[in-house]
Amino acid sequence: MIRLSRLTKKYGNFTAVDSIDLHVPSGELFGFVGPNGAGKTTTLRMIAGILKPTGGKVEIAGIDIAKDPIAAKAKLGFIPDRPFIYEKLTGAEFLRFVAGLYGEQGPEVEHRARELMALFDLEEWRDELVESYSHGMRQKLIVSSAFVHRPQVIVVDEPHVGLDPKSIKILRELFKEYVRRGHTILMSTHTLDAAEALCDRIAIIAVGKIVACGTMDELRAGAEHKGGLEEIFMRLTGQLAARDLVEVLDA
Ligand code: ATP
Repeated sequence: MIRLSRLTKKYGNFTAVDSIDLHVPSGELFGFVGPNGAGKTTTLRMIAGILKPTGGKVEIAGIDIAKDPIAAKAKLGFIPDRPFIYEKLTGAEFLRFVAGLYGEQGPEVEHRARELMALFDLEEWRDELVESYSHGMRQKLIVSSAFVHRPQVIVVDEPHVGLDPKSIKILRELFKEYVRRGHTILMSTHTLDAAEALCDRIAIIAVGKIVACGTMDELRAGAEHKGGLEEIFMRLTGQLAARDLVEVLDA
């Protein structure tokens, strides 16, 4: 459903995403994890068609996004890490607006929007301007806007930021149910326990390259480590060890 072939992004001489190959089939919840600056957001923005690759190809449902961007994007919902929302729209108007961009309108969309807002406890705020929403409420509205037009693929960058524990639980159930129905979700996250609990497969990215990819069992086998994702992540990405920390504090 999502296919990346030698996908590359360079900023001047710096290679942010370095020839990534990846296939995420229908019905899979796929996780992207990696240290700050690893290239996750850059990759997701290229998949969403808002950043032009330096090289390689992105295909959504077999459609090359460079050749037919409108057809490819019609199949896609994107939840960015720093979303833009029109402050002078109400929550209900914003969802109607996003659905309209995808050519969807009418009673079914209104019903879906109402259900999504109710799911995230935003019912009472549906006719309030977005400018009065808290950070978490905005995030829940953005998540709702990706689901309101029922895309085949959802690409989501750091969905947990700003959400309270109840909303995180709802979000996770929503993601699981969505892929169970045959849709595809590609999620980048720093919340490793969420990636471990939710994702069918996970890619660990470091310095623009996929350094490991697979189910948790495959990642454990590849890293020759029986522990959880956090230990495997630290091992493969060379994160600061406790010993180094002591040296820093003692210095
Ligand atoms: P984080 O976990 O911190 O969000 P990330 O894995 O999403 O990080 P990216 O935002 O994709 O990382 O950035 C990858 C690299 O590309 C970083 O070194 C970043 O500084 C660089 N980069 C991103 N955007 C630009 C830009 N517009 N110009 C120059 N360099 C950029």
